[in-house]
Amino acid sequence: MSKNYHKCKRILNWQTRQCLVCGELVSEHHPEIHHVEVYPNIGVFIHQDCHERVHHEDRFTFLRPSMSHQQVEVAHKMLKNKEKIKKLIKLNNEVRLLHRKIKL
Ligand SMILES: [Zn+2]
Ligand SMILES: [Zn+2]
Repeated sequence: MSKNYHKCKRILNWQTRQCLVCGELVSEHHPEIHHVEVYPNIGVFIHQDCHERVHHEDRFTFLRPSMSHQQVEVAHKMLKNKEKIKKLIKLNNEVRLLHRKIKL
């Protein structure tokens, strides 16, 4: 994972440092960051093991961003072509809204 990828504008649980999966305190040293949203870049401190769970267990889908980690990596690499990224984000948000409508 690239270092740029971890530059978060906002960390939701920076004060409590409470892991969103297990509720235990996340260590100040080498904290793992999971992105709950990509644009704007919003993350949460999380345990490494719990991070795995967020991406693999169905009950944590609500914590997943509209873009996957892999898509974010690709988007960062394509930063030269901002219009293309905007389109990608727009498409992702539309798909996400659609999923929400179906669930309701
Ligand atoms: Zn945890
Ligand atoms: Zn993650």
